[in-house]
Amino acid sequence: MYERIDPAKKTGPLGIYVHVPYCIRKCRYCDFVSFEKAPEDEYFRRIAQDIEKGANAAAGLLGTAGRKPSADTVFFGGGTPSLASKEQLGTVLDAIRNAFELSPDAEMTIEMNPETVTAGKASELKALGFSRVSMGVQSLDDKVLKAMGRIHGADRARKAYAALREAGFDNINLDLIFGAPEQELKSWKDTLDEVISMRPEHISFYSLQLEEGTPLYKDYTSGRADLPPWELNREMYRYALGTLKAAGYHHYEISNAALPGFECRHNLKYWSMQPYLGFGTSAHSFIEGRRGEADYCKGSTLGLKEETEEELKGDFIFTGLRLTRGLYAADWKSMFGSDIFEELREPLEELIGKGLLSAEEGSCGTHPGKVIRFTPEGLDRTNPVMEELIGALGGSK
Ligand code: SF4
Repeated sequence: MYERIDPAKKTGPLGIYVHVPYCIRKCRYCDFVSFEKAPEDEYFRRIAQDIEKGANAAAGLLGTAGRKPSADTVFFGGGTPSLASKEQLGTVLDAIRNAFELSPDAEMTIEMNPETVTAGKASELKALGFSRVSMGVQSLDDKVLKAMGRIHGADRARKAYAALREAGFDNINLDLIFGAPEQELKSWKDTLDEVISMRPEHISFYSLQLEEGTPLYKDYTSGRADLPPWELNREMYRYALGTLKAAGYHHYEISNAALPGFECRHNLKYWSMQPYLGFGTSAHSFIEGRRGEADYCKGSTLGLKEETEEELKGDFIFTGLRLTRGLYAADWKSMFGSDIFEELREPLEELIGKGLLSAEEGSCGTHPGKVIRFTPEGLDRTNPVMEELIGALGGSK
């Protein structure tokens, strides 16, 4: 099980994120930073250099100069990191192992597209030290995959999963998307039921976001593509919650569920304000109250900037409420020294009154106290609720 936020642990082991911005072909809905080209050696060499600089900067901030900062999660995301060669990945992994004190049981994740997975690739990744794989299956319906512009078909995803198991991976996440073009309720149910029967340790289920500027956005706004209506989208989400729970998966974050003990340790750092460093173009970092985005055009490695207290409070709400275990008033108090129920009295009363949030007495370890979390109704309106709370922060000082 994951732990509650413990502000005293904000200098605990770091998470390391590496962005690999290459894809075989852009999916029609995607606005992630990724380019349709083959991974370039130079990019990985540059990251290796940045890792050394970033580790030194982190040691300075943490007050541990002269000692390597410790890290216990590594996450290669993209893009399609599995497109990179073993040498390219190895260059970065060596740099991480040299610059950080990596714990022996570190969670080491790599994202992959089913199209790039072969038995050989899976064994190669295992040999490099990856312990967890996150694969973008998205759907097991070829019609839906085609409408999203995915390069793989459903059978390819099934075979890739088998190859990963064969190579010995025992911690696998499968990413799914609902609310996609051409997707009917039955298609979503069939995909989810089959994926559950495959028993991956972790399942992510995201509602498709229509992002401005993408081919899908253009088709949708010009009437050439359609998306399931909102009510159907919510029915798909609720089906996922009920089915995953019945199958023994723990719904621990708005869009993530895991078999007990397999919650993603790296992503939990994002959602509980624990420190992490991101390397590669557009990668984000958060450490000692500073947040940053690497900007490779300007040559900045971490791009850290100190956050204002208001920004930190906004982050706390935005990340903490994503977790189903909720946001602990005691944590707010230890981080900011104030009472969240005083500071955000009006919006909290309103949102609780509307049945979108609950505030109940909870206890976690030695820190009993009130916990604020989404109600089932609130889970359908997470963005407006968070926006309302964060928007009220400006007037709360
Ligand atoms: S594989 Fe992932 S990162 Fe690449 S284009 Fe598709 S959705 Fe975007």
